Parts: sequence; structure tokens; C-alpha cells
Amino acid sequence: MFLMPEPPKADASKPLTVDERVGLDRFEFDEEPFITVDTDVCRTCETKPCLYVCPSKVYHLEKGALVYNTEGCIELGACAIVCKHIGKDAIHWSYPRGSYGVEFRFG
Ligand code: SF4
Repeated sequence: MFLMPEPPKADASKPLTVDERVGLDRFEFDEEPFITVDTDVCRTCETKPCLYVCPSKVYHLEKGALVYNTEGCIELGACAIVCKHIGKDAIHWSYPRGSYGVEFRFG
């Protein structure tokens, strides 16, 4: 049986950064793709708002091309909303299957 290590205790006297808060969460990664992106469409997207809205940094650019990694997804869904309304509607978003995904630790 594999036990996940406990996250480090936060200093309650200081507010946590977004990165620190996300770092406290636990993830059970779903091998089934729950977010897919038509990255061919992304080439025509000038604003690329997905790069700025995701606190887990699921989306980034490599040599000018959009790439994504859903392992740290906190299931916010903001990427799909901004992509639909400001981008090019290239994200197909759903929640991970039951028992997979993020477990918030309320950091
Ligand atoms: S906002 Fe949508 S279309 Fe634009 S780069 Fe991001 S995923 Fe692609």
C-alpha cells in the first residue's frame, strides 16, 4: 500500500501564495483524458487566455506551440470558459472519472 506523504505544515501567520495553496492539494491522476485540446486550432488563437487563467499552469508554450499537462488540474474549468469566449473554443473539458482528480486540502 502506497501512502502519500503529508504536505508540509503551513505557517499560519503568513498568507499562502496560489502556488503554495495548489501545492497542498492531493491528486489522483486519471489516465483517461478528461481535457483535450485541438492544438491545431490554437495556432490561430492570438490571445491565448488559457495561459493566464489557470492557477495550476496546465497550459504553456513550447517553441510557440501550445502544450498542456492535466496532472495538476484543480478542475476549475476557467480554461474552457475563456477559451470559448476569448480564445478559439478548442478545449473539450470534463471532470475526471469518479474517485480521480483533485482533493482539496484547504490550504
Ligand atoms: S485559449 Fe483555447 S484556442 Fe486559445 S490557445 Fe488556449 S486552448 Fe488554444
